[in-house]
Amino acid sequence: MNQQNSDDVFQVPVLIVGGGPAGLSASLLLSRYGIDSLLITKHRWTANSPRAHITNQRTVEVFRDAGIEHSVMAAATPHDLMANNVWATSFAGQELGRLLTWGNAIERKSDYEKASPSYMCNIPQHVLEPVLATEALRAGGEVRFNNELIDFSQDEEGVTARIFDRGLQREYRVRANYMIGADGARSRVVEKLGLPLEGESGLGCAVNVWLRADLRRYCEHRPGVLYWMVQPGNDYWVGSGTFICVRPWNEWVMLYMYDPAEGEPDLSEAAVTERARRVIGDETIPIEILSTSKWQINHVVAQRYSEGRVFCVGDAVHRHPPANGLGSNTSVQDAYNLAWKLAMVIHGQAGPGLLDSYSEERQPVGRQVVDRAMESVQNMRPIADALGFKAGQSEEEGWASLQELSTDSIAGRERRAELDQAIQLQNYQFNCHGVELGQRYRSAAVVTDGTDEPDYQRDAELYYQPTTWPGARLPHAWLTDPQGHRVSTLDITGKGHFTLLTGHGGDTWCQAATTIARELGIELPVRRIGPGLDYADSYGDWARLREVDEGGCILVRPDNHVGWRSLHPQSSCEQLLMEVIQHLLHRR
Ligand SMILES: Cc1cc2nc3c(=O)[nH]c(=O)nc-3n(C[C@H](O)[C@H](O)[C@H](O)COP(=O)(O)OP(=O)(O)OC[C@H]3O[C@@H](n4cnc5c(N)ncnc54)[C@H](O)[C@@H]3O)c2cc1C
Repeated sequence: MNQQNSDDVFQVPVLIVGGGPAGLSASLLLSRYGIDSLLITKHRWTANSPRAHITNQRTVEVFRDAGIEHSVMAAATPHDLMANNVWATSFAGQELGRLLTWGNAIERKSDYEKASPSYMCNIPQHVLEPVLATEALRAGGEVRFNNELIDFSQDEEGVTARIFDRGLQREYRVRANYMIGADGARSRVVEKLGLPLEGESGLGCAVNVWLRADLRRYCEHRPGVLYWMVQPGNDYWVGSGTFICVRPWNEWVMLYMYDPAEGEPDLSEAAVTERARRVIGDETIPIEILSTSKWQINHVVAQRYSEGRVFCVGDAVHRHPPANGLGSNTSVQDAYNLAWKLAMVIHGQAGPGLLDSYSEERQPVGRQVVDRAMESVQNMRPIADALGFKAGQSEEEGWASLQELSTDSIAGRERRAELDQAIQLQNYQFNCHGVELGQRYRSAAVVTDGTDEPDYQRDAELYYQPTTWPGARLPHAWLTDPQGHRVSTLDITGKGHFTLLTGHGGDTWCQAATTIARELGIELPVRRIGPGLDYADSYGDWARLREVDEGGCILVRPDNHVGWRSLHPQSSCEQLLMEVIQHLLHRR
């Protein structure tokens, strides 16, 4: 129980610093797993502008497991309205190209739909965060807005934090068994811990202008999230202004770059309205500016994510451009990896060594995401090249060069081929399913079954390849429950405990699991899949995906990654499973 003791020290098992997507997800998940937490966050409410918005299937799966998928989807713009990436000289101007994105192209739809029970969605951060905060509070987590971490120290037993309540203008202390640093890109927690950061900051400066403009007539026939308006004389990445859809089709973020060497950008209402008008290209559309903000491009990842009893998640440990839309996704997924481990350690079901696997598993993901996002920014340059935009050219030269794209000439033909190739390269940013979904962990919280990692049959970044190889995300397959309802393999696992999947011939695993659960004091339900068992594999998909015999088994971790598997039935299965679980949980 949380309590305030006589020395004015608030005691809690887990203190979470920061109320962004990472911290709020951690609060919600810990409550779901029966752990009290206190989340403190500096500002009076959640995000005050849209920022992150692309929410990928893996993140929606996390929300599904936490029981809030419906609340999130009800507030989000659905997947089919995220279809087109459009390049044009302005909304009203010449369209230069389109790419179907986020699995909306006919040849990618089945990849995405087959891989997950969940759909991507477009939910801006200022809409998502209130949903997460509400659900976190409803789940029982304590959240204190307007409270700022000033400092902290840790010892063998726990962490002591100094918090400043900005409303009451007074300081108090919190004593926690563990602390989560979810305090974003300017993380005080990371700085104080001295976690080594790799990479570079301030690689570019950007402006976000949040505005209202009814662009229905320019978008309804080509619905999408990103409209790249490329006029000569502008940055190669976001052009003269990229419009990010906040709410179809009347609320937007206009994003553009500036060079601080040329002075700070004019963010007056008149100046940004004028810019938006040029990018829209239609004088008749009324524009209402809601807010402006500046931000920087970073390419930074921490070499490790934790120190002692303090664990960092989200932008605190990985900072990168919004290309690929991975920022808040990776942050939520960090929390998902960490929460069950903290819960099992605090419940006394696992040894503290389990917590080392958090950094081991998530740091390589952070590195991959940071590098991918940066490369995707660089990959935008060929589009500007194909359009004939060059540094130092005048606007007139730029427009003349652009005209060549539409000419019946050798140069025009080459330019069109070049543009097509440059747009296809954007699949690595907007249809990068392998990066979005295909993480495979290697750590002491995964036990090998002696098989080699399966080779990728297709490009590992573009395509997700399902496998039950230990460390991989459990593949999704639709099953049928006894009432005839469709459930995903991911629905019968997760929820804060380990699960054992088996089928016909796997009875000995069931007996073993019951004994082990009792002896170790953990939950270990067994789900048997097959005709006449708990769930039917009606479509035969699970049989094609499971890579183990019917009588083998798959041990699924609470975060729906495979912890271990046995390809076949085993004679000494109880002893084997006990050894595996004891190893995974650091119980020896
Ligand atoms: C223009 C733009 C577009 C983006 N688009 C996408 C996208 O499409 N998809 C995507 O996934 N990501 C995107 N991102 C990135 C995304 O916004 C971040 O990755 C995400 O917010 C990180 O979440 P977080 O919880 O780690 O940190 P944050 O959201 O930064 O939250 C940190 C929290 O900690 C609080 N805090 C800080 N210091 C203290 C302290 N000392 N005491 C108490 N509280 C503190 C802050 O007030 C804040 O509430 C985008 C970012 C930008 C700028």
